[in-house]
Amino acid sequence: MKKVVKFGGSSLADAEQFAKVGAIIRADEARCYVVPSAPGKRVSGDTKVTDLLYECESLASGSKDFSGVLREIRSRYEDIIRGLSLKLDLTEEFKTIEKKLTEGAGRDYAASRGEYLNGIVMANYLGYEFIDAAEVICFKEDGEFDADRTNEVLSARLKETGRAVIPGFYGAMPDHSIKTFSRGGSDITGAIVARAAHADVYENWTDVSGFLVADPRIIKRPKKIETITYLELRELAYMGASVLHEDSIFPVRKEGIPINIKNTNDPEDDGTWIVESTAKKSRYTITGIAGKKGFCSVSIAKDMMNSEVGFMRKVLQAFEDQEISIEHVPSGIDTMTVFVHEDEFISKEQAVVSGIYRLAKPDVLEIESGLALVAVVGRGMKSMRGTAGRIFSALAHARINVRMIDQGSSELNVIIGVDNDDFERAIEAIYSIFVETQL
Ligand code: ASP
Repeated sequence: MKKVVKFGGSSLADAEQFAKVGAIIRADEARCYVVPSAPGKRVSGDTKVTDLLYECESLASGSKDFSGVLREIRSRYEDIIRGLSLKLDLTEEFKTIEKKLTEGAGRDYAASRGEYLNGIVMANYLGYEFIDAAEVICFKEDGEFDADRTNEVLSARLKETGRAVIPGFYGAMPDHSIKTFSRGGSDITGAIVARAAHADVYENWTDVSGFLVADPRIIKRPKKIETITYLELRELAYMGASVLHEDSIFPVRKEGIPINIKNTNDPEDDGTWIVESTAKKSRYTITGIAGKKGFCSVSIAKDMMNSEVGFMRKVLQAFEDQEISIEHVPSGIDTMTVFVHEDEFISKEQAVVSGIYRLAKPDVLEIESGLALVAVVGRGMKSMRGTAGRIFSALAHARINVRMIDQGSSELNVIIGVDNDDFERAIEAIYSIFVETQL
């Protein structure tokens, strides 16, 4: 059994958290490859080391003094080193960082040092080998991640060592300059390492016990999702539920490696399992509910629309011409509606309207704003009679007007459009009927 374990910033924010992580790793022989993030917030209102590093770089690139911020960063690591009673001196490392920042090494280099230094500390603490991600995570000339080359180089490197720490978030370009993934990208590194190591599990340790059925800012203490498929996760993540960086799914999915989201502060909790496919049923028929506010709808009507070949394409062309991405297109016989993101659409609204008139010559065109979309996601819905009925009767009881209904062709989700003002109540009503009352 081989496990790759990734720890997020809050799991490594100070010596106390590091000690918890150490205990977790030592508790299971199989946890052989460790991917750390940079130290995150110790308390709310604190600053992540990555953000301090970005600040250093902005000062450096404006030829301003960044020594104060760099000292602050150094003291974060020194507190950890002292708290763990390690014999580790980072003086030379900080000299190099200061020099490189002064010479204009750039934002990615700066940001990556958070993970780099935490990797050195972690390797020293665990007695594991340190592998610099710059040697094994490869990007292409154009800045895109080079999955094949990385897998080749990293697999070969991991074969030489039984236990290692590989810092998350960064790699190197062909010219050896440092390149980072987007924010939260240590999750991706963890998945890449899991793939290269042929791990049995990719454990992603964070400060929550996994994915929740609904957003805790809307539902008080929502239930946890025990098992979710990659496809369900994609639907929920797209609608705003975030625990894991979206791009971290691809490397492990390719190899059929499950991800287990675990809580560093509650290691006994089983967390959430993310799997390709499962025979396990969701406890509540639905797996999760998520949603977003801030959509606009453009409704178009034209007599005999259904018999006009290419009508839809012409309408959609008007959006494409303005480079606006489309969310949903529910349609009737002589009507169709296009849902788009308000912030992407508003500045180009009139250009789209004139495009539609020019290309498709509709009879009526109407724009509405202030709409929210709620996605009810669940692999179990397909085979369960009455799910849609329960959703809509819950909404009717809550006196919520449904503005749009779209059931994905995979029957994995039902998307419901409501007014922005009804958004939270819609989620409460659906959560209540499926999870609380389980009617
Ligand atoms: N430290 C980086 C960030 O704050 C990457 C990560 O934590 O995954 O975004």
